[in-house]
Amino acid sequence: MFDGDPLVFLTNLRETVSTLYDNHGRPLNYLRLAVTDRCNLRCFYCMPEEGIHYLPKKELLTFEEITRLVGIMTSFGISKIRLTGGEPFVRTDLMDLIARIAEIPGVRDLHLTTNGILTAPHIPELKRIGIASVNLSLDTLDRDRFQMITRRDEFDATMKTLGLLLETGIPIKINAVVMDGKNTDDIIPMAELTRTSDVSVRFIEEMPFNGTGSQPKLLWNHKKILDRLREHYPSIEKIDDPENSTAFNYKIPGYRGSIGIIAAFTRSFCGTCNRIRVTAQGTLKTCLYDDGVLDVKALLRSGVSDDDIKAHLLKAFRSRAKDGFEAERLRRDKHPVHESMSTIGG
Ligand code: SAM
Repeated sequence: MFDGDPLVFLTNLRETVSTLYDNHGRPLNYLRLAVTDRCNLRCFYCMPEEGIHYLPKKELLTFEEITRLVGIMTSFGISKIRLTGGEPFVRTDLMDLIARIAEIPGVRDLHLTTNGILTAPHIPELKRIGIASVNLSLDTLDRDRFQMITRRDEFDATMKTLGLLLETGIPIKINAVVMDGKNTDDIIPMAELTRTSDVSVRFIEEMPFNGTGSQPKLLWNHKKILDRLREHYPSIEKIDDPENSTAFNYKIPGYRGSIGIIAAFTRSFCGTCNRIRVTAQGTLKTCLYDDGVLDVKALLRSGVSDDDIKAHLLKAFRSRAKDGFEAERLRRDKHPVHESMSTIGG
């Protein structure tokens, strides 16, 4: 299937064993993989309440396909893997998959993003496997607001998971999407979680990936979120951002944890973006805002060799859009972005 110059291909492969760079000189080392598009919540900013067409099981990558793909990705030096969805724990036997991925040579950090509802019983095993961190989605500390936002009555389950994660010492980031008129009164109470707990609370700009086609107006951008924090905590300090961080990071003096603000809609971090995504249906995205650049599932199922797949991946990695705005302009599906984050893998 690979029909280019084999010498160039081999040279490319050798070059990329340690660090893979895209066509804009950005290192790529982070894969976010959606293991399902199904979710046990219906967060209104992520998906419609009804009429969701879930993928038939045969359209999801199998565990064998996922582990093969992760193995191929690690040969490029991609060493950080995040499993997401949909809700990862809705996928049967997720822990088996996690254990298998953790064993793949070259996987240095394995992370998980979850809403916490089904997570609690698996926390000891996650710890044993050596999960690097868990991102817990929690937009509010108020039970009624939780139900209004998620359209489900699962506040206690998520809070139980938060408590257990804190007890076990697994590094935690809490993700909260900030929405005008919905949870902006939670910004300070959520920031207060960092007083006694070593967590990172990250406030995220709302993006239009809600699966409905409606385009929310961004009334709470990263600047406004910071203004709210500064009003309440005049001494809040900027701290160094980890390499390739999507968040601007802050700390309130004397508090144990930290606060992040993610300009997900404003897209101010594309210049250092080190991440690629594989969606629940097995499509490669080299930018959150593109509409898929390679049908990886079709390749995995076509009987071609790993080297053939690598050649296709390399081509995609070296044709990345400069930023999320260019990716959005280049979409084949010219509608404004409208997919649900649960199919993309948030
Ligand atoms: N079910 C898991 C969870 O809830 O964490 C993983 C999937 S969820 C799609 C991943 C993340 O995407 C969540 O933190 C969620 O808040 C975020 N997300 C979903 N839709 C979003 C949107 N329209 N704008 C910003 N973030 C969004």
